[in-house]
Amino acid sequence: MVAAFTQRCRIAYFSMEIALQPEIHSYAGGLGILAGDTVRSCADLELPVVFVTLISRNGYLRQVIDADGRQGEQPDPWEPERWAQPLGAKVAVSIEGRDVWVRPWLYRHRGTLGYEVPVVLLDTALDENDPEDRAITGTLYGGDDAYRLKQEVALGIGGFRLLRALGFEIETYHMNEGHSALLALQLLNDQRHADGRLTEGGAHDPEPARQRCVFTTHTPVEAGHDRFPYDLVERTLGTGADVEALKAFAGTDCLNMTRLALNLSGYVNGVAKRHAEISRHMFPGYRVHAITNGVHVETWTCESIAQLYQTSFPQWRHEPEVLVRADTLDDAAVWSAHETAKRALLDRVEALTGAALAPDVLMLGFARRMTGYKRPDLIFSNLDRLRALARGHPFQILVAGKAHPRDEVGKRAIEALHHCARDLAGDVPVVFLPGYDMELARFLTSGCDVWLNTPLPPLEASGTSGMKAALNGVLNLSVLDGWWMEACIDGVTGWAIGDADLGTAADDAEDLYHKLESEVLPLHRNDRARWIWMMKQSISKIASHFNSQRMMRRYAAEAYLR
Ligand SMILES: *Cc1c(COP(=O)(O)O)cnc(C)c1O
Repeated sequence: MVAAFTQRCRIAYFSMEIALQPEIHSYAGGLGILAGDTVRSCADLELPVVFVTLISRNGYLRQVIDADGRQGEQPDPWEPERWAQPLGAKVAVSIEGRDVWVRPWLYRHRGTLGYEVPVVLLDTALDENDPEDRAITGTLYGGDDAYRLKQEVALGIGGFRLLRALGFEIETYHMNEGHSALLALQLLNDQRHADGRLTEGGAHDPEPARQRCVFTTHTPVEAGHDRFPYDLVERTLGTGADVEALKAFAGTDCLNMTRLALNLSGYVNGVAKRHAEISRHMFPGYRVHAITNGVHVETWTCESIAQLYQTSFPQWRHEPEVLVRADTLDDAAVWSAHETAKRALLDRVEALTGAALAPDVLMLGFARRMTGYKRPDLIFSNLDRLRALARGHPFQILVAGKAHPRDEVGKRAIEALHHCARDLAGDVPVVFLPGYDMELARFLTSGCDVWLNTPLPPLEASGTSGMKAALNGVLNLSVLDGWWMEACIDGVTGWAIGDADLGTAADDAEDLYHKLESEVLPLHRNDRARWIWMMKQSISKIASHFNSQRMMRRYAAEAYLR
């Protein structure tokens, strides 16, 4: 079953999460969406890549919100049997002195022209394993540090060995974030066994491994970089652990997965130009390239807009660059396609929450992981100000997003949002949509009028939901950070909030209100022609460039073909 793939695939892409489709819950947020768009673009471009991820049978979390606006989490299981086939191979990894067996499932992603890309889903839920070990590939980002380290052993070491057991001959390993960095160590060990090669001081020569590894770092936020104390590492990896090699490459005080990946990768990149710069400051001494993220246009373009593209640019799915000519689209057709998308969103909102929102009132959307640096509460900093704005030009707000179970700040933000919504009732309709996922993201990023993003710079590495919005003609109103620094032409492709360098929380809130009051709301009310012109500018300048095909062409040319 895998023979066709093993013969062809020379690049292995490892990611803790991949968003393959809405029914497969093996993703949590932006990192997984990006990996999924990477799979889809590899199929379009016919790139010889095999993907490896955890099966995450219980998903990330199903979000339930109680009457007080507090988030609760439930398991979010999916059915691997419906979407993937178990393969007849298994390998063991050593965890706490036990052999833990890892089995692969094969998911095949088929591109529209028929090229198939294999995705290997790693599963430890086997009868051979202790009940505790069966749960290792159960919950994405669940549990404590010990659980996370076991998952990363399964991913990095288990995945590496399974590819070999299945017959893959991999030349290049791409680590999407540091979670899979143990694979690089494995490669290093392999090399050593293969040729007994040691450098002068007795340390392992990392050069051969480095030539084969690519590392993409995704966040300047500290909590995004896994660190494990060495006593935990020794307990987990057991006597087989080459702790000396680990300390040489991953730091002497703790196992820093980012450091490990940096030291063992010959190509390192950040996910936007600004993010690469920040990463160079965070990790002095490393050469950090920039490949700005993109989104898969076919996946994220809603039906009505897709029809519009199909009529004018029949090759748009395979060559999104042609959308650069979107400024030639017919105004009335653009507006009508947008109205259709907005109607679909409002129907979905009503079905989910019972709230009936108005189709002709400007809709602001804010949906993303609920966590401190994303500042979901920024727009609610001054409720009186919001009320006053809405008296001039009515608008409504949709909010969605999950908080990690251990992110207290994020959870409090969700609660606070619910209180704000209650306070604003009657003045500004605010609706929180529970269970933000790929499907809801599709409705939101195509059906809102304005897509809001207010991170605390420089902490938003890239951001991708705004790209999805743009390719549906939804205008971005965003703090200058991440990808938006490359895409924003204020008043043309959308609007900037704050200053790229000087932003402080209070200024950004004030600037946001000011932008809404002086530009966004009046333009929407009074100048439909100019609004549609901006929609077309946004599509033509953003969709043609910030797509995952352009992104993968760059990875192929610059990172894989070195
Ligand atoms: C696109 C997407 C994200 C990432 O959005 P950001 O703007 O990068 O925060 C997260 N979750 C889901 C479900 C998405 O579709």
